[in-house]
Amino acid sequence: MSDCIFCKIIKGEIPSKKVYEDDCVYAFHDINPQAAVHILIVPKTHIESAADITAENSMIVGRVFEAAAKIAKELGLENGFRIVTNVGKYGCQSVKHIHFHLLGGEQLTEKMS
Ligand code: AMP
Repeated sequence: MSDCIFCKIIKGEIPSKKVYEDDCVYAFHDINPQAAVHILIVPKTHIESAADITAENSMIVGRVFEAAAKIAKELGLENGFRIVTNVGKYGCQSVKHIHFHLLGGEQLTEKMS
C-alpha cells in the first residue's frame, strides 16, 4: 500500500534500525521502545491486522514466529520475552499493517492490558 508507513520501511523509503530480514518478514527496532528490547516484526505482505488472517495467508504468522525465535536468540533474550499484536481501535493498533511487538531484555510485568 503506497501510503503505509511499514510498507515504506520495508522498501527502504523510510529509515529503520533493521535487525532481521528474509523473503517474508522484516524486523526493526521500535522508534518508541516500551521495554529494554522492543522489536517490530512485520510481514512484507500488506495485511491490515490479525483480524484479517485467513487460511490463505496464515503461513505468515508461522514465519513471523520463526523470525522471532531467531531474533530472540541473536539478541540474547534467553530469559524470555513477549510477543504482542494489537488489533483495531480497542486493541490500540496505530499502524494498519499487521506487526508483532517482540518485547524483552528485562523482567516484564504480569499485566498485559
Ligand atoms: P501499534 O500501536 O501496535 O500499531 O504499534 C505501532 C508501533 O510502531 C508503535 O510502537 C510505534 O512506536 C512504532 N512506530 C511507528 N513509526 C515507526 C517508525 N518510523 N520506526 C519504528 N517504529 C515505528
